[in-house]
Amino acid sequence: MTVVAFHKGEFVPLEQATIGIMTHAFHYGTAVFEGVRGNWNAEHGRMYIFRLEEHYDRLLAGCKIMRIKLPYSSQDLCDITVEMVERSGFTQDIYIRPIAYKAEERVAYLNLGGLGDGFTVMAVPFGRYIDTEAPAKCCTSSWRRMEDTVIPPHVKISGLYVNSILAKTEAMAAGFDEAILLNDKGYVSEGSGENIFIYRNGQLATPPLVDNVLPGITRSCIMDITRNELGTQVVERHIPRSELYLAEEVFLTGTAAHLTAVGSLDNQTIGDGQMGPRTRRLQDLYFDIVRGKNPKYLHWCTPATPRVA
Ligand code: PMP
Repeated sequence: MTVVAFHKGEFVPLEQATIGIMTHAFHYGTAVFEGVRGNWNAEHGRMYIFRLEEHYDRLLAGCKIMRIKLPYSSQDLCDITVEMVERSGFTQDIYIRPIAYKAEERVAYLNLGGLGDGFTVMAVPFGRYIDTEAPAKCCTSSWRRMEDTVIPPHVKISGLYVNSILAKTEAMAAGFDEAILLNDKGYVSEGSGENIFIYRNGQLATPPLVDNVLPGITRSCIMDITRNELGTQVVERHIPRSELYLAEEVFLTGTAAHLTAVGSLDNQTIGDGQMGPRTRRLQDLYFDIVRGKNPKYLHWCTPATPRVA
């Protein structure tokens, strides 16, 4: 099995997909990326790539902001990705990383104009990012989620992730699993790489996008599943920090983290500290859907069949 990447317009062995040290994106974070999961379904003998088109729509939105021009449509990017996965022959869960970037080898140049652009997509075997069975121990970060007036938070700009990484590093160094970031106004925004939901007084709620939230694809799936399968709406509203302590259930959603219960925040137990019944129900539904086991949601999964060498 030779793992391939799509790099500079062609499929090459992963180790040959390299960039030079003068590359603009390496110095300044001038890139836009996505994280996409491929979930292996052994019974069907194929990979289900979850919500691939939605990830590329978000990537292209980021490219617009960052003035990155790619010679590919969203559909072209999906086709390239499926081919990369099929050629690589993975038969286990994977994490797919597309990245569009300012590819020119030019430093001391603080301008997005006049630079060449590049696109690369690769995948790595990927299991658990965070323990989805044990409720996570979270803390409120001392770092704040970036305002749109600083760096646009609604797309995945590489440079923005310094913020997430500082928050996650601080949390882990203090013995927590994950950081919850507030925005500049003090409202709950999101985790370092996850959106957040609370269940309180019979209502499932999540912060609105204006609270500097990434429009998470898992967030949107959970809103759809809640409406379709549980017959209720997720309410988008401001959530003050203190409300997290009072919630009956809190959970995080993200491509890497899937759907993970929060058991405590700042060492205060949430609910009874265990995964609550609503979180469990949504997690069960979600896990079946991402692996292509729920025919009703099969259109969210793009199949890729490993090529036999
Ligand atoms: N917020 C941030 C900051 C993230 O990096 C991610 C992961 N992409 C999410 C939320 C969740 O988004 P998604 O469900 O699209 O993975």
